[in-house]
Amino acid sequence: MTEPTIYEISSPGRTGVKFQISDVPEFEVPKEFLREHLPMPEVSEIDVIRHFTRLSQLNYCIDTGFYPLGSCTMKYNPRINEVTARLAGFAKIHPLQPTETVQGSLALMFDLQNWLGEISGFPGITLQPAAGAHGEYVGVMLIRAYHNDRKDFKRTKMIIPDSAHGTNPATSSMSGFDVVGVATDKNGNVDLESLRAVCDDTIAGLMLTNPNTLGLFEQNVVEVVNIVHEAGGLVYGDGANLNALLGVVRPGDLGIDIMHFNLHKTFSTPHGGGGPGSGPVGVVKHLVDFLPCPIVGVIEEGSEDFPPLYGFIEPEKSIGRIKAFFGHFGMMVRAYTYISMYGKDGLKKIAEGAVLNANYLLSLLKDTYKVPYDRICMHEFVLEGHWPDAPGIHALDIAKRLMDYKFHPPTNYFPLIVPEALMIEPTETESKQTLDLFVDAMLKIAEEAKTNPELLKEAPHNTPIGRLDEVKAAKDLVLCCWIPENNY
Ligand SMILES: *Cc1c(COP(=O)(O)O)cnc(C)c1O
Repeated sequence: MTEPTIYEISSPGRTGVKFQISDVPEFEVPKEFLREHLPMPEVSEIDVIRHFTRLSQLNYCIDTGFYPLGSCTMKYNPRINEVTARLAGFAKIHPLQPTETVQGSLALMFDLQNWLGEISGFPGITLQPAAGAHGEYVGVMLIRAYHNDRKDFKRTKMIIPDSAHGTNPATSSMSGFDVVGVATDKNGNVDLESLRAVCDDTIAGLMLTNPNTLGLFEQNVVEVVNIVHEAGGLVYGDGANLNALLGVVRPGDLGIDIMHFNLHKTFSTPHGGGGPGSGPVGVVKHLVDFLPCPIVGVIEEGSEDFPPLYGFIEPEKSIGRIKAFFGHFGMMVRAYTYISMYGKDGLKKIAEGAVLNANYLLSLLKDTYKVPYDRICMHEFVLEGHWPDAPGIHALDIAKRLMDYKFHPPTNYFPLIVPEALMIEPTETESKQTLDLFVDAMLKIAEEAKTNPELLKEAPHNTPIGRLDEVKAAKDLVLCCWIPENNY
């Protein structure tokens, strides 16, 4: 039996609110402002509560279950982050307030800049970018500004290894660079011969996702950096997923010139349905002057009795403003809270836990699922979702069937260099019990693929809506499918 919709239980005159008798004289609302055809259900307060609560439960989310979505770092968002972000002193300030009245918030941004710098090994940090891809955009703008400043105008190409995140080539080409691809070698690293072959004085830089989208640490990273530097290019490090490196490796120490962080991945701020995120960018010393403005700085040094006076500073050759005001401040408060809660040793434990959890899953699945590059993985790994003795079964069928076992599917069909890819990232916040249940489901599905393939082909069976046409669902989204048609 399907539950009646809020439109079906609507009853004329039923209401959830009671207005006072008004002493304002009645006024005829002009007809053109009234939408007669707009269907408004007449329901009680509890009907509304149930309607929206029920809707919220149709969605799968990190707060209800395991979410092994590779490259997304869907870790638990600690609730203390939410408590601090809602403190009135942070939540109720206005971006146009005089800086003397928001010194605490500026101090928080200043400290966060420094902490991110210390974690990554970069002396300059901007907190402005609103997402990882936005950080990449800032990064390639900085690369262009650096070359233009040196009057080196012939550098029009950006090298992107084929194991990079998809946003890297997209950012480069959107910013007007010609994208030059480089292959992956048989160990899952950047193929150095192919890299040398494309490096010349028309190269602006290279964008390196490390760990790459195979979940592997780039073993030749220092050599990759040297080859690009020798050709006069800069190296952009995609640090969206810093989970495996926290407290262990500093990208700045590897020779990388620019990197973005995703506060909404590594630093536990929520992804929030596509936003708001935060993608700060760190740079080496010779790029600090180009950073977007404004940056939080110390305007007047403090003393024993007085704290320093913070304000906004504009780097000398700044590429300008790339976001309204100062970025997504609420995300900064959450990340600041997260880093302070863990401290230096705690951050390292996060990395160790993330890598351990991923390798635990990999070791239990690799005899059943094909592994394209058999190495110790970092925070994630990639499997192939197909078997010679289960013809017709694809990664998509496995992903859909996982939903019946109450798990969010992993990223699939990415990276593109692995056939039928299933990209799995457990994160450090999951327990052994949860990981074991996930392994059980994955092994059972592999068995079903051979004994009862229809079960996979028609999955999911237990979700509110069955298998969707995914392209149509994304391109032709219908949000009000529960409204009977005649109510339009
Ligand atoms: C998520 C991700 C990005 C993009 O970050 P957004 O905040 O989604 O724009 C870039 N690179 C890598 C490696 C990522 O995992």
